[in-house]
Amino acid sequence: MLHVAVSGTISLACQRCLGSVPYDLEVDNLLELVPEGGELSQDELEDDTRDFLPVARELIVADLVEDEILLSLPVAPRHEKCGLPGLANAGERINPFAVLSELKGKPN
Ligand SMILES: [Zn+2]
Repeated sequence: MLHVAVSGTISLACQRCLGSVPYDLEVDNLLELVPEGGELSQDELEDDTRDFLPVARELIVADLVEDEILLSLPVAPRHEKCGLPGLANAGERINPFAVLSELKGKPN
């Protein structure tokens, strides 16, 4: 078994305004090491409470920690409240049909 625990605050890019979003990282996983190429039973594969890690002769811990962090990140981080850049100052939108209604009242 390998216990991977990582915590800290990192900065992600907001998918709406592209500003930075602080994110509290909290990784706490218990991985069961299994030999690479070894077969897991159907029960083991379907058991969501267990995580298996196939290991060859050597395990690169830095890569493993990186993968665990990446897996824990939200897919689309966003501020709770923010707008698209530039949208707030776009002003009033002109209704394209307003021109038509003007024409309608005019004699030919
Ligand atoms: Zn934002």
